[in-house]
Amino acid sequence: MKLVEQRLATIQQQINEACEKAKRNPEDITLIAVTKSVSSKRAQALVDIGVEDLGENRLEGLLEKQKNIQNPVNWHFIGNLQTRKVKELIHTIHCLHSVDRMSLAKEVNKRAEQPMDCFVQVNVSGEESKSGIEPEEVEAFIEQLAAFENIHVIGLMTMAPNTDDECAIRNVFSSLRELRDKIAAKQLSYAPCTKLSIGMSNDFTIAIEEGATHIRIGTALVGSESEEDE
Ligand SMILES: *Cc1c(COP(=O)(O)O)cnc(C)c1O
Repeated sequence: MKLVEQRLATIQQQINEACEKAKRNPEDITLIAVTKSVSSKRAQALVDIGVEDLGENRLEGLLEKQKNIQNPVNWHFIGNLQTRKVKELIHTIHCLHSVDRMSLAKEVNKRAEQPMDCFVQVNVSGEESKSGIEPEEVEAFIEQLAAFENIHVIGLMTMAPNTDDECAIRNVFSSLRELRDKIAAKQLSYAPCTKLSIGMSNDFTIAIEEGATHIRIGTALVGSESEEDE
């Protein structure tokens, strides 16, 4: 087995175990391979073994991978997005994970030709380095999106705090879930808000236990460019 296949098998096994523990169905978890730090060749190797969802956090990286990978892929944009760059990618992606301000939502609404699946990014941990809307402001923010016919809020996204403290990470994920539940209960047609984009290489099993529907995995899955070619 190639290294990349081994890594994928290990992650799938961990997903299954976390689902079993949480009494969830692994089919309800979308595994997004974050390829931002590797070449198109390595990204292609993942697609070749069955990975269907790829994530990039910069426009340039996204466009490069899209140019080089011919197979059908669900492209996820997971990074900070400058408003002026929206038009360059909005027609090429499946899902935008990083709606974090009104000016961005407005531009997405203007440029998209049909409702775009979006996550609202929330800064739950409060770390200054992280983008996202303050938790207290998320409900009002989403209510304002009602006017935008091309924004479809499928859920909330956050990044875990930079810590080894499993408890702190879990608290961040569970408070995002509670916020998600509150918004979902409103049954807004433009914002069903049933999904949670949480969990990266170091914390995805915790994220699954706390309700992740989309996990964004980079290093644990894609390896690094400095490795031997496989
Ligand atoms: C890089 C990145 C990831 C993946 O991180 P790993 O720790 O490599 O798994 C997930 N989400 C976002 C928003 C990222 O920028």
